[in-house]
Amino acid sequence: MNIILLGPPGVGKGTIASKLSKKMKVPHIATGDMLRENVAQKTDLGAKAKNYMDKGLLVPDELVIEMIKERLKRKDCKKGFILDGFPRTINQADEISNAARVDKVVNLQASDGIIVKRLSRRRVCSQCSFIYHLDFIKPNREGFCDKCSGTLYQREDDKPETVKKRLKVYEKQTEPLIKYYQDKDLLVDVDGSGLPEEVFELVDEAIAA
Ligand SMILES: [Zn+2]
Repeated sequence: MNIILLGPPGVGKGTIASKLSKKMKVPHIATGDMLRENVAQKTDLGAKAKNYMDKGLLVPDELVIEMIKERLKRKDCKKGFILDGFPRTINQADEISNAARVDKVVNLQASDGIIVKRLSRRRVCSQCSFIYHLDFIKPNREGFCDKCSGTLYQREDDKPETVKKRLKVYEKQTEPLIKYYQDKDLLVDVDGSGLPEEVFELVDEAIAA
């Protein structure tokens, strides 16, 4: 089964996608990880992407799309895949449709208030970048990373004022995309405001339906 997981930043897409990936035994594909992987493995696309990243520029859409297409062609995607947070635009969605069949698009939803509150509890390790959550993934020692003892900090991106802005941008950007998948009769809305296990149950049901 080929699934796209959509939802605003902070709704918990990554957590749900990784649980689903384990249960369904299909790869979890997130663009950030994919980009880093390509750069680390020095693939042609990775080298091109690195040129932009080294200059502090955004990696162009076409390059990301190329990478996704290449990723979806790999053997492990034969049984299915879970695309996490991609596509974001109609153009990207069209490209995905050309490259692979899409069976379901799960749209995780939660109110801005819940997301702002959730993200404000997130902390990142200054050394290894592992992400903690003061309610869900607590470090053993307050303020320090379990893995490398690095100090934990709150990213600028996770502060309430920034989150509110990001949510507005997301909404504006994805509105047409939601409509696009609704029109194709692929979209299912799932309430993402509960605990991760609860949300996972709901997503699982929505996919089976
Ligand atoms: Zn660490």
